[in-house]
Amino acid sequence: MTETNEFRRLKALAKRYARANRIAQHQALDLIAGELGFRNWVKLISASKKGWQTDTEQMARVEAFVMSPLPAATILKGDSEAMNRRFAYLEQAEHGMIGDHTYRLQEILGDVIIAGEGWSIRVSENPGAIPIVETYTDPEADCPVLDPEFRQKALKVARDWAVRVRAEISTDWPRRSTKPDLNGVVRHPLGRGKSAVWFCLHCDGKITGAQIAENLWHCPGCGASPLDIFDTAFWSDDRGESFLPVKANEAVGQDQPDFQIVDGRPKLDLTEEKIILLIRTALLDDASNISEKLGALLAEISTDDENGVWIELEVDLWPEKKDPVQALAVSQLLGLEAEIISSSSTIPFAWPGLGEIATSTSEYTQMMLDAYAQYGGLPNRKAKE
Ligand SMILES: [Zn+2]
Repeated sequence: MTETNEFRRLKALAKRYARANRIAQHQALDLIAGELGFRNWVKLISASKKGWQTDTEQMARVEAFVMSPLPAATILKGDSEAMNRRFAYLEQAEHGMIGDHTYRLQEILGDVIIAGEGWSIRVSENPGAIPIVETYTDPEADCPVLDPEFRQKALKVARDWAVRVRAEISTDWPRRSTKPDLNGVVRHPLGRGKSAVWFCLHCDGKITGAQIAENLWHCPGCGASPLDIFDTAFWSDDRGESFLPVKANEAVGQDQPDFQIVDGRPKLDLTEEKIILLIRTALLDDASNISEKLGALLAEISTDDENGVWIELEVDLWPEKKDPVQALAVSQLLGLEAEIISSSSTIPFAWPGLGEIATSTSEYTQMMLDAYAQYGGLPNRKAKE
């Protein structure tokens, strides 16, 4: 590698690092110089004039450094100790151990999820959102994530990874999307212009360029995605004049915990819709021919406030004397008292008896079409647009 190429490579790496971590390029150059053992970039330049050159190993180290970004705040404080502390465990992430517990780490649509036996933590792509800690075990059971020390470690692993994911996202964005100019003007990452003031379609919040850049284009007030952020409040009568400035992220306040624990175990919410679904499925179990299947699918099912369920079956499709045994059994399991009613209304196809002799729906369809052709009008098919 010639000297020119070497420096071009270092500068390119600094540019990438600056962009990923939303810091100025000169700061990134200084950090990279620091990584090579110099106090700053100027020192590195002067050393190189005296014949100093990077070797392959040093270049590899700089590349590794650039790939594992640190939170910008840490770097801006110039904490060299923190800079040198690499996320060693991040390199081997994906699967890892905290104490005796294994975890897996993955990214789903920008969110980072760390999960183990009976627990998971989701760190949103939105830097303003607080992580959600979910447990899937009995509250009495021993779940590692309920132990504060373990939880902090797991949160750190996920948050560090999220920093990296966000950095990758902002690397793809124009530089001006993450770094406001002197007037606070920033460029929308999805090409919706430049402005120092932005508006959230979701919560009608007014957002400064610096705020929105810092929050990676998620609304600091409500967490809406970059898709909901506009430079003009076109939906407002006064073009957003009356909109209130969004408050900086309060969720990360001192007094409140910076995560939320929720019981993630599946809970049965037996709505009328779900009861109807189960009963109808049971009716299909009970149906012994095509006609009865149609009857099951067309049955009117409803529940009342007194734990009753009404099952209304069309008499032409479902024999009046036939008990829907499975449907009754399901009702009982759900603690419902079933009432079977026979009704007579319009049925979708004439000659319901055909459905009793056909062995399949295709056979029934053919018989039904033939019958219409012979005794009725032509199929009344709605033309597709
Ligand atoms: Zn909002």
